Amino acid sequence: MLDFPIFDSRHARHAKLTDLRSDTVTRPTDEMYARMREAPVGDDGLDGDPTVQALEEAVATMLGKDAGLYVPTCTMANLLAALAHTRRHEQVLLESNAHMFATERGGSLLAGLAYTPIEGKAGAMDLDRIEAAVRPGSYRIGVGLIAMETSHNNAGGAVLPLTHMQDVHEIARRAGVSVHIDGARLMNAAAALEVPAATLAQHSESVSLCLSKGLSAPVGAVLAASEAAIATAKGYRKMLGGTQRQAGIMAAAGLEALQTMSKRLRDDHARARVLSTRLNDLGASFAAGEPQTNIVQVQVGGTGMPSHQWVRALAEFGVLTRPWGEKVIRCVTHRHIDDADISHAVEAFAQVFEKRGHA
Ligand SMILES: *Cc1c(COP(=O)(O)O)cnc(C)c1O
Repeated sequence: MLDFPIFDSRHARHAKLTDLRSDTVTRPTDEMYARMREAPVGDDGLDGDPTVQALEEAVATMLGKDAGLYVPTCTMANLLAALAHTRRHEQVLLESNAHMFATERGGSLLAGLAYTPIEGKAGAMDLDRIEAAVRPGSYRIGVGLIAMETSHNNAGGAVLPLTHMQDVHEIARRAGVSVHIDGARLMNAAAALEVPAATLAQHSESVSLCLSKGLSAPVGAVLAASEAAIATAKGYRKMLGGTQRQAGIMAAAGLEALQTMSKRLRDDHARARVLSTRLNDLGASFAAGEPQTNIVQVQVGGTGMPSHQWVRALAEFGVLTRPWGEKVIRCVTHRHIDDADISHAVEAFAQVFEKRGHA
């Protein structure tokens, strides 16, 4: 629980806030600040920054790739991957609810790429539809890249099965197309499957990894891929204004995040399961999805109150959530959410449900 309200003065009257809006709200640890202060730095746009290089190497090694590239956001890492693997005017196939499609496809306009949505279930693209989309046809533009997402944000933190990832990679290999993994929450997916992250990354030519979500670093992401793809991506990073100077100060926090935060993600997953179970045990007319990782989607459509109204009512109790469309609210567990926060959230849901219609 956070002791002081830092997000929004509207909630200032609450001594304690339970912030379930996202795992991006996590603050740096004392150890991160200490490493930031002590990190050797250089000019990453000139002759390099040693701490940035150490982070890039650490992520590449962990994911079984040749090289890494530190970037300000995972959005930039995904766009650089798309640019590095394709030629202009090619298609990028993505699951239709993927973050790269739903939230980031503005970037495709800059890149001159066509992002093509492929329908799927629980974040996994339909394999027949991928096969059909990569089949050559003179009437359509070629496919340059297929992107998967795990864990899958809009699918409630769903984890792609390893067999699915292998199947997608195999279809891509036969078609001569590269595969990218949007692994903003790759470490959550690896924790859920209880495998090393490299086991997931092997089914791709590139992976993006966000350091500022559950891993708690203040900013930053890393793209990992072959030496050649990273060299291309580095040129585009410069073009996009993503080359930073003494970025080792931030990369130091990223290194600490990588080395210490991955192992605690299972605690977030366990608390998400408890939240889901306890919400469903209330016997109310909302339904919490069964989380595989740290995201709980609560269907509130049956309560007669739209999601944004639920979000406002829960905030009155100091419980912050986000509307995910009209009928769903999203709750995300992270390092600042403890057992008391889960109880606090469940109690707030019960109170709001009881009082609805009496406002
Ligand atoms: C958050 C998120 C991103 C974007 O990350 P930023 O660092 O906020 O740009 C990309 N993909 C997925 C799946 C995400 O959840």
